[in-house]
Amino acid sequence: MQVLKFGGTSVGSSKNINKVIAILEANAKQSKVICVVSAVGGITDKLLKAGHLAKDNKKDYKKEYKAIKNKHLAMLSELIPTNETKVADALEEKLKQLKNLLDGIFLINELSHQTSDRLLSFGELLSSFIIAETLKSRAISAVLKNAQELIVTNSNFTKAEVKFEPTNLNIRNYFNTSNKSITIVPGFISKSVNHEITTLGRGGSDYTAAIIAAALHVERLEIWTDVSGMYTTNPKLVKQAYPIKHISYQEAMELSHFGAKVLYPPTVQPVLDLKIPIHIKNTMDPKALGTIISENSHGKSSTATGITNINNIALLTLQGNGMVGVPGFSKRLFETLAQEKINIILITQASSEHSICFGIEVQEANLAEFAINEVFEYEIATKKIDPILVEKELAIIALIGDKMKSHQGISGKMFSTLGKNNINIRAIAQGASERNISAVIAEKDVKKALNTLHESFFESDTKQLNVFITGVGNVGERLVEQIKQQQQYLKKHLKINLRVAGLSNSRTMVFNADGIDLNAWKAELKEGEVATLEGFFKNAKVLNLRNSVFVDVTANEAVSKLYAKYLKESIAVVACNKIACSSTYENYVKLKALSLEYNAPFLFETNVGAGLPIIDTLSNLMASGDKITSIQAVLSREFKLCF
Ligand code: ADP
Ligand code: ASP
Ligand code: MG
Repeated sequence: MQVLKFGGTSVGSSKNINKVIAILEANAKQSKVICVVSAVGGITDKLLKAGHLAKDNKKDYKKEYKAIKNKHLAMLSELIPTNETKVADALEEKLKQLKNLLDGIFLINELSHQTSDRLLSFGELLSSFIIAETLKSRAISAVLKNAQELIVTNSNFTKAEVKFEPTNLNIRNYFNTSNKSITIVPGFISKSVNHEITTLGRGGSDYTAAIIAAALHVERLEIWTDVSGMYTTNPKLVKQAYPIKHISYQEAMELSHFGAKVLYPPTVQPVLDLKIPIHIKNTMDPKALGTIISENSHGKSSTATGITNINNIALLTLQGNGMVGVPGFSKRLFETLAQEKINIILITQASSEHSICFGIEVQEANLAEFAINEVFEYEIATKKIDPILVEKELAIIALIGDKMKSHQGISGKMFSTLGKNNINIRAIAQGASERNISAVIAEKDVKKALNTLHESFFESDTKQLNVFITGVGNVGERLVEQIKQQQQYLKKHLKINLRVAGLSNSRTMVFNADGIDLNAWKAELKEGEVATLEGFFKNAKVLNLRNSVFVDVTANEAVSKLYAKYLKESIAVVACNKIACSSTYENYVKLKALSLEYNAPFLFETNVGAGLPIIDTLSNLMASGDKITSIQAVLSREFKLCF
């Protein structure tokens, strides 16, 4: 027996369902297949949205319902084109039940957790029905088994806990007597001991599959999704991310707990003790190797295994002099959070005990704030502590790997990499297992942080430079052409991936975070937005790319006045004109100081000697111990005026 689970995108269209069926048929040749399916991609979100609209007395819930209905009916007619009225009627009947439920929510303006679970259960009930009927219509030996008759939970609606004893018994009793070669099981849904509909938490279909795999002691569990495995980091945010071939259970758990959505965190637990490997595969590319999660990570060479992010984080800080040395503050704080069922993702405490700081999901921040201020009402009133401080729009990024504990300097490398790119760190936590170093940063910095850390830990020395060029007259145009010509050489020989991310002349400007196509830059620039110097700076800042460099190829004093702004964002500045460096000495010194402070080079080699390597040569001579006693030169007119 084998257990395969297919996620939302995999069952998100009739085209993809046909791919799923091809995989099922191939696997069924080896042994019986249990196929766990998610709701059609996006449907669970739509159900939830419809429920909330109905609860808020907004008639638009009907629009959401129609979209859900049309999607499923269209898929069915594409998959079973012959007029199977019985099947279509049965699907319509299920959709009618869904409509009745939404109408009910609209009438009573209430969407309790219990009703929400009932509502969301339609997603998996509908998808599993369509897939099972499609298989049957193609004369494949298949049956549908409702997971609600197998998986027993407590009544903790929206994230119910599984009662393993009755669940395992149900699963074994059913599958050990079933003779169908393929059984379709809806994931995510379950029933409580009291026969109420429950769900296992968002993303929980992976868990359903793991529970069944463990109950039946199958040889392996396959999770089929829309990417080719567990990647070094989220492939949707970092292009250079790549699938990890082997990974240990512990690392996989840590990655998924800290945001790698590809695997629902509790999934590993049921299969871990039985040492059942989990194979993550791509439905859209079945030949890709994917990731194998097993007992060990098979001697990987890199120290870190992956980088993750969790967005929508709030950081709460309890602080005050009255906390120092007084026992019991943390106990009361965490008890309060536990009572409110608020999950803490990260905790740090200063050794002075002057403050405790913890990260939670932003949706729970108001509840936490209210509850904590109430519990510490007396201490706050008597000014022993401050009211709890709540900061939002934050995210957690985490560097994860089994091998990190045996290597010094990993956290140093992590934080200096972030610092060099002007990413401010709000809080830090390192698990005692040393398998995880986490940092809280602004949510707007997540993409940059993941890219820059990925470059530093996973991309064998190649460094990406993102260049923003202002002024593409004669000289600027030559520079762009030179970059185009040298891109491959720089990559191969100097391991520099040089990209032009922004271009501007005095009329228009263009930007592209993935690099402007240098074969078509002139046409793109013509179509660009109206150029302003401030606008160019703002775009470079908002793009927030790692290793950004601003190149001034104008002869415009107004441009040089913005250098300080760029440097303060840790964006390096390269000036081809000497306006800034031959302005007041104070201004020059200030720019050099900013360059040092923000770790952003300020370079102006072409300012002296018409581009001959004079400044660089002098710097190198000084660095190796030479002293400059005098400089003799035949100066240009401007320089003479300066002296
Ligand atoms: P499914 O519906 O198949 O369960 P999910 O959307 O739950 O799929 O999970 C797959 C998605 O997880 C990917 O499309 C990707 O955007 C996201 N993801 C985040 N981090 C990672 C990672 N480290 N490796 C792979 N995918 C990741
Ligand atoms: N359909 C559910 C969700 O979107 C469960 C799953 O896909 O795993 O959360
Ligand atoms: Mg998922």
